[in-house]
Amino acid sequence: MARVVLATNNPGKVAELRAILGGDSLELLSASDLGGLPDFEETADTFEGNAIAKALEASRHTGLAAIADDSGLEVDALGGAPGVRSARYAGESQDDAANVARLLGELEGVVEAERTARFVCVAACVDIDGRRLTARGTCEGRIGLEPRGTRGFGYDPVFVPDGYEQTMAELSAETKNSISHRGKAFRALREQLREAGVLG
Ligand code: IMP
Repeated sequence: MARVVLATNNPGKVAELRAILGGDSLELLSASDLGGLPDFEETADTFEGNAIAKALEASRHTGLAAIADDSGLEVDALGGAPGVRSARYAGESQDDAANVARLLGELEGVVEAERTARFVCVAACVDIDGRRLTARGTCEGRIGLEPRGTRGFGYDPVFVPDGYEQTMAELSAETKNSISHRGKAFRALREQLREAGVLG
């Protein structure tokens, strides 16, 4: 059975990724199973670059194959911002509420038809020989006028996925996983791991 570390200190992500990737042929270890991973600074200007760098760092640190992701929100009226800077949009030490407040401020006066946006996730896997796989998933939608809902995290309360009236923060976790950028990216990575013979 292949042993792979999930390069995240976020327990919510670990549960989500185990549900998608778990099976008999892959032993998925969380960072906390291995005593934690050092903080990682995201310096690349693409999701692919950051996801690969995170996975390489975790693999170097543990001596195991590693899986990582990088994700964010692209808003068309803002030229694709906040993009790879989504987690730090309102500043290094700010939180989700501050990021959402900045986003709504930047979009003040922008009409509904022009508030189109997408969540993007790139999932990456590197093995101990340095081989790399990446898969990208997106979820199209638009930015609402005010936050609604209490589920999820990040920009979920202001993101209305195409085909829905509710925000991501008003949808169940199951529905979110079935349409989300992260769900799509990791299901595509799972297929690639299968084709590469890593997953049975
Ligand atoms: P990462 O941990 O570097 O991938 O940071 C991603 C950032 O993008 C998060 O801190 C959120 O601000 C935003 N983001 C990514 N995925 C989601 C999502 O599913 N819902 C809401 N916000 C998200």
